[in-house]
Amino acid sequence: MVEPPRLPLVLLPTPVHPLPRLSRELGIDLWIKRDDLTGLALGGNKGRKLEYLMADALLKGCDTIVTCGSLQSNFVRQLGACCAMHQIACHAVVMPLPYNDAPILAAGDVPHEGGNVILDRWLGVELHRVPDAPWDALFAQAEALADDLEAAGRKVYRIPVGGSSWLGAYAFYQAGLELAKQGEFHTVVCPTSSGSTHGGLAAAAGHGGFRVLGVMCDPEPEFAQDLIELMAVVDRNSGLGAGLGPEDFVLRFDCVGQGYGVPSDEGQEAIARLARTEGIFLDPIYSAKAFAGLLKFAQEGLLSGRTVFWHTGGTPALFATATDQT
Ligand SMILES: *Cc1c(COP(=O)(O)O)cnc(C)c1O
Repeated sequence: MVEPPRLPLVLLPTPVHPLPRLSRELGIDLWIKRDDLTGLALGGNKGRKLEYLMADALLKGCDTIVTCGSLQSNFVRQLGACCAMHQIACHAVVMPLPYNDAPILAAGDVPHEGGNVILDRWLGVELHRVPDAPWDALFAQAEALADDLEAAGRKVYRIPVGGSSWLGAYAFYQAGLELAKQGEFHTVVCPTSSGSTHGGLAAAAGHGGFRVLGVMCDPEPEFAQDLIELMAVVDRNSGLGAGLGPEDFVLRFDCVGQGYGVPSDEGQEAIARLARTEGIFLDPIYSAKAFAGLLKFAQEGLLSGRTVFWHTGGTPALFATATDQT
């Protein structure tokens, strides 16, 4: 095993605690892992990944980081904070609603402005706004920007969407080990989108004695294959040897609603339910949809034993609005 260098940035271990009222209502033993409380720039799951990504960028002597994502990206916000702390220029190519096959024609207003965009401005992130297009076009535009900055003499570190390089997944392998030290859990439910959260946790599942159920917030039929490939890179680079295959990834595709980045009715109900029973806020794009998935798993009788919901943060998106009120 090769332990990649890590820059301490977040408050670990994050708390894990029971949800007594909701457990009673649902008739299950439900706990929550509070990665919304990682501390860095209002918290969220991306802080864990950034501990490894920033260590790598600093070791390589980079003065500029280029990434991409949606306009309300939580990764861009947390990366922006790290870059500001280390005087690295932070560039992000962003689209309001990147998509897979066809543009998402959401009924009603979709909250794009405010929220994370306000926080990005406080942090000095350079947002390069481009019109909606497929994810691959977003990645290509980020690559073109990185090339331009290099041609202008900058030393650029490229980070894929959501921080889902092998280092991001390695961070979540460590997070899974952290959970295993905090108690015995039978099932972990998490949102999944760019994949390194779910992938890393699945790699730790064997050690932790738990299984991972992922709820897709950006459903792509080929996604399990992407996760297998990502985790093979972790195995290769770290010597982890998890050797994950299709049987290691359980994905739920029916909780996204109208599409990635568009709040769903079930998700909005899940936000109200958790807030009103336990005083905890979810975010509308990821954790709310995953929690709606958890409620379905519970209804279907799939959650025997102790279940933990992995709260990945994202709460600034609760303050996003359809039109610019900043
Ligand atoms: C990025 C993000 C996720 C998804 O994590 P991935 O590692 O990209 O799959 C889930 N929840 C929140 C709040 C996020 O910001």
